[in-house]
Amino acid sequence: MIDAVAEIKARLNIEDVVQQYVQLKKAGRSLKGLCPFHPEKSPSFIVSPERGMAYCFGCHKGGDVFKFIQEIEGIEFVDALKMLAERAGVALTEQPLRPQIAKSEKDDLYEIHEVVTKFYVENLWTTKDG
Ligand code: ZN
Repeated sequence: MIDAVAEIKARLNIEDVVQQYVQLKKAGRSLKGLCPFHPEKSPSFIVSPERGMAYCFGCHKGGDVFKFIQEIEGIEFVDALKMLAERAGVALTEQPLRPQIAKSEKDDLYEIHEVVTKFYVENLWTTKDG
Protein backbone atom coordinates (compact mmCIF):
# COMPACT_ATOMS: atom_id res chain seq x y z
CA MET A 1 0.00 0.00 0.00
CA ILE A 2 2.95 2.27 0.61
CA ASP A 3 3.83 1.41 -2.95
CA ALA A 4 0.44 2.63 -4.14
CA VAL A 5 1.04 5.91 -2.35
CA ALA A 6 4.44 6.30 -3.99
CA GLU A 7 3.00 5.24 -7.33
CA ILE A 8 0.23 7.82 -7.12
CA LYS A 9 2.67 10.56 -6.18
CA ALA A 10 4.90 9.60 -9.09
CA ARG A 11 2.02 9.65 -11.58
CA LEU A 12 0.25 12.79 -10.48
CA ASN A 13 1.59 16.30 -10.70
CA ILE A 14 0.64 18.00 -7.49
CA GLU A 15 0.18 21.28 -9.34
CA ASP A 16 -2.48 19.71 -11.59
CA VAL A 17 -4.37 18.39 -8.59
CA VAL A 18 -4.13 21.68 -6.71
CA GLN A 19 -5.10 23.73 -9.75
CA GLN A 20 -8.52 22.12 -9.70
CA TYR A 21 -9.13 24.10 -6.52
CA VAL A 22 -6.69 26.99 -6.60
CA GLN A 23 -5.52 29.25 -9.37
CA LEU A 24 -1.74 29.10 -9.41
CA LYS A 25 0.89 31.33 -10.91
CA LYS A 26 4.47 30.40 -11.62
CA ALA A 27 6.90 31.77 -9.07
CA GLY A 28 10.37 30.53 -9.91
CA ARG A 29 10.52 26.80 -9.40
CA SER A 30 7.30 26.83 -7.42
CA LEU A 31 3.77 28.01 -7.96
CA LYS A 32 1.87 30.48 -5.88
CA GLY A 33 -1.78 31.07 -5.26
CA LEU A 34 -4.35 32.36 -2.83
CA CYS A 35 -4.73 29.94 0.04
CA PRO A 36 -7.94 27.88 -0.15
CA PHE A 37 -7.88 27.35 3.61
CA HIS A 38 -7.95 30.92 4.87
CA PRO A 39 -9.01 34.27 3.40
CA GLU A 40 -6.13 36.34 2.10
CA LYS A 41 -5.32 39.01 -0.45
CA SER A 42 -1.71 38.25 -1.21
CA PRO A 43 -0.83 34.67 -2.06
CA SER A 44 1.00 32.67 0.57
CA PHE A 45 -0.01 29.27 -0.70
CA ILE A 46 3.01 27.66 -2.33
CA VAL A 47 3.11 24.54 -4.47
CA SER A 48 6.43 22.88 -5.07
CA PRO A 49 6.22 20.30 -7.87
CA GLU A 50 9.83 19.42 -7.10
CA ARG A 51 9.00 18.37 -3.55
CA GLY A 52 5.42 17.33 -4.23
CA MET A 53 4.22 19.72 -1.57
CA ALA A 54 1.39 22.24 -1.35
CA TYR A 55 1.66 24.38 1.73
CA CYS A 56 0.34 27.66 3.10
CA PHE A 57 2.79 29.86 4.93
CA GLY A 58 -0.07 31.88 6.33
CA CYS A 59 -2.12 29.23 8.11
CA HIS A 60 0.34 26.33 7.82
CA LYS A 61 -2.13 24.00 6.19
CA GLY A 62 -1.33 21.53 3.49
CA GLY A 63 1.44 19.04 2.91
CA ASP A 64 1.73 16.40 0.26
CA VAL A 65 -0.94 15.75 -2.33
CA PHE A 66 -2.85 13.41 0.01
CA LYS A 67 -2.84 15.86 2.87
CA PHE A 68 -3.98 18.62 0.54
CA ILE A 69 -6.93 16.57 -0.73
CA GLN A 70 -7.82 15.48 2.81
CA GLU A 71 -7.95 19.06 3.97
CA ILE A 72 -9.66 20.64 1.00
CA GLU A 73 -12.28 17.89 0.64
CA GLY A 74 -12.58 17.31 4.38
CA ILE A 75 -12.05 13.58 3.98
CA GLU A 76 -10.01 10.83 5.60
CA PHE A 77 -6.69 9.65 4.24
CA VAL A 78 -8.25 6.42 2.96
CA ASP A 79 -10.76 8.38 0.89
CA ALA A 80 -8.13 10.75 -0.42
CA LEU A 81 -6.12 7.71 -1.40
CA LYS A 82 -9.06 6.21 -3.29
CA MET A 83 -9.81 9.47 -5.02
CA LEU A 84 -6.24 10.06 -6.14
CA ALA A 85 -5.69 6.41 -7.06
CA GLU A 86 -8.63 6.65 -9.42
CA ARG A 87 -7.29 9.84 -10.90
CA ALA A 88 -3.80 8.41 -11.30
CA GLY A 89 -5.10 5.11 -12.66
CA VAL A 90 -3.47 3.13 -9.86
CA ALA A 91 -5.25 -0.02 -8.74
CA LEU A 92 -5.59 -0.36 -4.99
CA THR A 93 -5.57 -3.80 -3.46
CA GLU A 94 -7.71 -4.43 -0.43
CA GLN A 95 -4.71 -4.58 1.87
CA PRO A 96 -5.19 -2.82 5.18
CA LEU A 97 -3.62 0.63 5.18
CA ARG A 98 -1.66 -0.04 8.30
CA PRO A 99 1.14 2.51 8.36
CA GLN A 100 -1.05 5.37 7.18
CA ILE A 101 -3.99 4.59 9.43
CA ALA A 102 -1.63 4.23 12.35
CA LYS A 103 -0.36 7.67 11.49
CA SER A 104 -3.75 9.37 11.41
CA GLU A 105 -4.82 7.63 14.59
CA LYS A 106 -1.75 9.08 16.18
CA ASP A 107 -2.71 12.54 14.92
CA ASP A 108 -6.14 12.12 16.46
CA LEU A 109 -4.57 11.18 19.76
CA TYR A 110 -2.45 14.29 19.65
CA GLU A 111 -5.55 16.36 19.04
CA ILE A 112 -7.38 14.75 21.92
CA HIS A 113 -4.36 15.25 24.09
CA GLU A 114 -4.29 18.93 23.20
CA VAL A 115 -7.96 19.39 24.03
CA VAL A 116 -7.55 17.57 27.34
CA THR A 117 -4.47 19.59 28.24
CA LYS A 118 -6.32 22.83 27.49
CA PHE A 119 -9.21 21.67 29.65
CA TYR A 120 -6.94 20.96 32.58
CA VAL A 121 -4.99 24.17 32.22
CA GLU A 122 -8.23 26.15 32.15
CA ASN A 123 -9.51 24.29 35.16
CA LEU A 124 -6.29 24.92 36.99
CA TRP A 125 -6.65 28.66 36.65
CA THR A 126 -10.38 29.13 36.80
CA THR A 127 -11.57 26.78 39.53
CA LYS A 128 -10.93 26.53 43.24
CA ASP A 129 -9.96 22.90 42.94
CA GLY A 130 -7.20 23.82 40.59
ZN1 ZN B 1 -3.66 29.56 4.41
